[in-house]
Amino acid sequence: MGLVGWVDWVRKRWAGQSPPVPPSHAGTASELVRDEGSTSGPICFSGGRLSFRVGLMSTQGNVRESNEDNYYVAGIPSHRVTSGSAENGQLAPPADDVPGLFLVADGMGGQLAGEKASELAVTLIPRKFKRLLGDQGTDEAVQKVIREAVAEANQEILAQSHLIPEFANMGTTVVLALMHNERAYVAGIGDSRAYRLRGGRLELLTQDHSLAQALVTAGTIKPEEGENHRFRNVLYLYLGCKDARGGPEEIQTLELEPGDRFLLTSDGLTGVVRDDVIASILASSDDPQRTAQALVGQALENVSKDNITCLVIHVI
Ligand code: CA
Repeated sequence: MGLVGWVDWVRKRWAGQSPPVPPSHAGTASELVRDEGSTSGPICFSGGRLSFRVGLMSTQGNVRESNEDNYYVAGIPSHRVTSGSAENGQLAPPADDVPGLFLVADGMGGQLAGEKASELAVTLIPRKFKRLLGDQGTDEAVQKVIREAVAEANQEILAQSHLIPEFANMGTTVVLALMHNERAYVAGIGDSRAYRLRGGRLELLTQDHSLAQALVTAGTIKPEEGENHRFRNVLYLYLGCKDARGGPEEIQTLELEPGDRFLLTSDGLTGVVRDDVIASILASSDDPQRTAQALVGQALENVSKDNITCLVIHVI
């Protein structure tokens, strides 16, 4: 389909309808959370033979004083700006539109620095895509764009971290999915994750770049030990570190099929909700906005102490 096929993409919100919340989570999300990044209903658009419905929710949660998570969905503003503005919490202007591109970023380094790093990721990566992606047809060409876009964002975050004292040592994870030519290109740096639900089976598409996961991969500890390991949140790869200068090491390239459901999420969800529960919530509703809210609701019910961002994409 290429980007030409996306030109007439249509984004519709279900105006005036607040999305239904499943009974088991009733009230949780709306009462306990100051939700900064949620849409009033699914965002819908189409490209070629396929159409997509997107649900999104991002919240600071009940413990953190700010939300260092950020996200990118073409056509809607990323939820915060930290620089050039006297007020935090102000909506950022829409970033460069790249229909089919989705990002979640989880910033680190203390409030302002963490917010700035994740904001840079969701601003700079789409900007580079906008310039380079065009109608790139081959997998190799698209993967090259992904590597360059992420590498350039890494460079900029490193530079600002060195130059601006208040942003010293800032960093961010990033997980991205690009729906292009009826394929999904998925990559991540850090421990934000991408999943695909197909035929009732949940598949983790990204690898955590945490020390705990490295110990699991090396066979030093068992996978179940990794889940609550003290190095679980210690990352060896993230945007803002020199080792990420080449962009993502691995890019999954998957044929899209109607019925596929994708989830991009920060560790505010995956740190407290098991994969089998994520799978059943992803399967439970045809409304991705309802699903995003239910996932956030479950994370809060499980006493997540972190920011939580869930971006759900249904392929139709
Ligand atoms: Ca986090």
